[in-house]
Amino acid sequence: PIDIAVTLGLALARDNASADELMRCADLALERARLEKRALAIYEAALKPAARDQLSLLGELRHAVEHDELRLFFQPKIEFKTGRVTGVEVLLRWQHPTRGLLGPADFIPFAEQTGFIRRLTRWTLDRAIAQGAKWQRAHKPLSVAVNISADDIGDVRLDSRVAGMLSRHQLPPALLTLELTESGFIEDPTRALRMLDAIASLGVNLSIDDFGTGYSSLSHLARMPVHEVKIDRSFVIGLESDAEFAPVVRSAIDMGHGLGLKVVAEGIETEAAAARLRDFGCDVAQGYLYAKPMPLAALEAWLDGKERVPVIAFPVDFPIEDFADTVSLAVY
Ligand code: C2E
Ligand code: MG
Ligand code: MG
Repeated sequence: PIDIAVTLGLALARDNASADELMRCADLALERARLEKRALAIYEAALKPAARDQLSLLGELRHAVEHDELRLFFQPKIEFKTGRVTGVEVLLRWQHPTRGLLGPADFIPFAEQTGFIRRLTRWTLDRAIAQGAKWQRAHKPLSVAVNISADDIGDVRLDSRVAGMLSRHQLPPALLTLELTESGFIEDPTRALRMLDAIASLGVNLSIDDFGTGYSSLSHLARMPVHEVKIDRSFVIGLESDAEFAPVVRSAIDMGHGLGLKVVAEGIETEAAAARLRDFGCDVAQGYLYAKPMPLAALEAWLDGKERVPVIAFPVDFPIEDFADTVSLAVY
């Protein structure tokens, strides 16, 4: 037996409305139906000004997807122990025709509220997986991490979509990571777990983003098929300013390891923070200290530059075994 639920947003065509406009009105009605947990909502012409703004933003977002205004930026993830780049996180930007380059804060929350995020996620996943496959074909495999939203987890076809994209682009599933925040499984943990299990069984990695800022229970965490936690930036910043943060961060890292997970720290901006995290046994680093999120060409130049750095000296007690297959880093 399969449970299928349908939510409808209805808009009526009057006054020669264009198809685009009509679709946007229907989207708004759909959003209302979702918010109010009703099966059907009908678009009303008497829009509040805020709703009118939303209507045009939604239209612009649709346009952005259809006319290639969205850009993938990449931020490297670096293994503490070896300095090796283990992968990149894909972060979305919008090259808006009049407002310039917009960060996710300007449009992701809105896309999440309106349900448009699923469309954005499909677009981003497809491009990111295609790029991952390109690197793989060029014999420079890089693991690619894509952020997904709580609403994406509610999409019953998410796993089959991901599987379809992986096979279409020929990317080994182990080179894809999906990052989701704890809020992704708070609303309906049972359903979320089922979807996460399905995704994990494809061989795709799962990562808990902004770890430590949500409210998920430890029992959920223990049952989730995740491979990685990302300690939130606020803790990394706190490490420098606040003595109390150190035991919290250390415990979070230990807990991650206790659960058999890889621990990533994000938002590292200073050597001091990096040194402490390294001492605490954190596995992977990400932050402006290493590299900011950048477009593809800049990332490739950065990676090339990294490969060209010669190894000039080793400190006396350098763990050389750990470096057997990476000879490109070493800056002191
Ligand atoms: P996130 O996934 O936790 O991404 C990390 C954010 O921290 C990124 O911001 C990144 O640019 C920023 N960051 C990295 N290192 C540093 C640092 O050293 N210092 C500071 N101050 N910031 C740093 P960004 O790109 O603005 O993205 C913000 C959030 O938007 C992301 O948080 C993610 O939740 C969301 N997001 C981005 N792209 C997507 C996407 O394609 N889909 C979805 N659903 N969400 C996305
Ligand atoms: Mg992330
Ligand atoms: Mg984060």
